[in-house]
Amino acid sequence: MPHIPLTPIESWIHEKIGGESGLLTREALTRYQMGALQATVDFALKNVPFYQKKLAPFSEKRITSPSDLLALPFTEAEDIRRAPLQFIGVSQGEIARAVTLKTSGTTASPKRIFFTEEDLELTVDYFAHAMADFVTPGRRVLIFMPGPQPESIGQLIRRGLGRMGVKGIVAGPVTDPSQAADLINDHEPECLIGIPTQMLQLARREGIRARCQERIKNVILSADYVPCAITRAIETAWNCSVFNHYGMTEMGYAGGVECHAGHGYHFREADLYIEIIDPASGDPVQDGEMGEVVFTTLTRKGMPLIRYRTGDLARFLKGRCPCDTILKRMAPVSGRRQGAVSLKNGALLTLADLDEALFSVPDLLNYHAKITRIREGETLTIAFFSVSSDRESNRHAVHEAVSQIQIIQDALFQGALTLSIEEEQNAPCATTGMIKRTLTDQRESGPLV
Ligand SMILES: [Zn+2]
Repeated sequence: MPHIPLTPIESWIHEKIGGESGLLTREALTRYQMGALQATVDFALKNVPFYQKKLAPFSEKRITSPSDLLALPFTEAEDIRRAPLQFIGVSQGEIARAVTLKTSGTTASPKRIFFTEEDLELTVDYFAHAMADFVTPGRRVLIFMPGPQPESIGQLIRRGLGRMGVKGIVAGPVTDPSQAADLINDHEPECLIGIPTQMLQLARREGIRARCQERIKNVILSADYVPCAITRAIETAWNCSVFNHYGMTEMGYAGGVECHAGHGYHFREADLYIEIIDPASGDPVQDGEMGEVVFTTLTRKGMPLIRYRTGDLARFLKGRCPCDTILKRMAPVSGRRQGAVSLKNGALLTLADLDEALFSVPDLLNYHAKITRIREGETLTIAFFSVSSDRESNRHAVHEAVSQIQIIQDALFQGALTLSIEEEQNAPCATTGMIKRTLTDQRESGPLV
């Protein structure tokens, strides 16, 4: 087995928490985290109106071990939607960036997330260290992430790379694949950073695939959830390595990234404390068991979040990573707490089921799914985009792939479901941006779980 280098996140954390000489130990990191958790709670009680109310009954409790944290209540996405300004821990003049997050396919009010300049610096510092695994000083990186504003994610990555002597070019989300290919040709980047479905589009378009082959060494896919089928398709098309980065705006964009072992994400554990809980009971689950990802910010001032429920489902991996870090590692997110639809026969269909099946179809670029009910019958409609112009064979391939999902196969066999497959004409590039794929329940009393 080839030697797997230790994730650079570990030595960065060691330095950040003022570790003694020698190697970082799990005990030293846990000690630091408990102190930082207590400091976050103290700060929130003093400065953050939402937590002044919410945590008042717990103000005498001290956090000295992970189990002490379990007494504290969760923060829900809905809490932020309802009153985002109540989460601000500094004067409004200190807010350097406010982000509005819309949830596609729902009428819910958007979430607003706030950062100070110092908060954003923490993210830049993370990129300046975590990216060392994938880039070489003197080389270039094309960043297909939002970027025009000075404090946007694309610019934060560029600033981080700059500190390592790497030139980052912020290209923004892909709106025109051939233009993106021109940029790749012109800049000859060693590494691309982008949104999974958009990088898939570059890898699957014939002309672009060929022009990029043998040029790109690493691709970093940044999202809360990356289907394995997309990772495989990009690796095969470009003969490159694909690494997944897990993060969300609420985390300060960055959460964690895979090391060269490709066995789970390592988190920036000096800035984030991650828990995995049983979504129904709220109790912690054992390492290795699936649950909902919950995090607490340890160093943020603009908008500290305590035990924030992400809605993402994942599990901590047991045992040590082949890179030999003492950091935890989390398996890729496998779906969303609210991303499943209960079919008439009681089976649960998830977006992850559809993703793995559909992105395995060779020419497929993206899709939307919805479930509707007319009288007693339920229909699952898949509207997809493909690079191939053979419409009949596209439809057939998508139908085949969806019918292979066990839950759907059973429902079709029982007569509980019909499938409707439609090909969309408009290329998804121009419209998707950062908007996520959706599985929408349009039944009148749709039992969304
Ligand atoms: Zn590792």
